[in-house]
Amino acid sequence: MENKQPLSGWWESARKVVSPNCDTRPSGEVSLLLLHAISLPPGQFSGTAIEALFTNQLAVDEHPFFADIAHLRVSAHLLIRRDGECVQFVDTDQRAWHAGRSCWWDAHQREWRRALNDFSVGIELEGDEKTPFTRAQYDALVGAVRWLVARYPQLNRRRMTSHAHVAPWRKTDPGPTFDWAYFEQRLAAN
Ligand SMILES: [Zn+2]
Repeated sequence: MENKQPLSGWWESARKVVSPNCDTRPSGEVSLLLLHAISLPPGQFSGTAIEALFTNQLAVDEHPFFADIAHLRVSAHLLIRRDGECVQFVDTDQRAWHAGRSCWWDAHQREWRRALNDFSVGIELEGDEKTPFTRAQYDALVGAVRWLVARYPQLNRRRMTSHAHVAPWRKTDPGPTFDWAYFEQRLAAN
């Protein structure tokens, strides 16, 4: 007998680390992708602090910066580390908490939209906005985005943008080192 798993919003290529920082999407819509960048401590690309932050286990005594952010209740659906490893924290059918105060012009619905967490998927790239992202990260990102596009028909290239674009008054990530043209070219290739 074949044991069929139910379809779920957990990507099989990602390592699963469950975050409690999520809840139900109010309408079930998934039609926007937001790209972010994060490094913890800032500028350092090793260790487990990002996973700790997204699971509310950041040790405040490990780094002065951690005390400032340990109280945050945040998450992303996916984290792509420097070596291309993907870590998934939240089922993509669920709402993760990554956009914060933000707004986005929905050209299809012809309206400004807020509460972007309601209908977006958040992907964090491990990086610091100064160092180019790695080839392995683009490889993994393209794989993840193809999986998302296959799963959510409303998602397409026009509905993929940066955190900086939707919250320009307070955010800059993933920053100028993210090569949108290269990403687009890789996404379009067979
Ligand atoms: Zn961000």
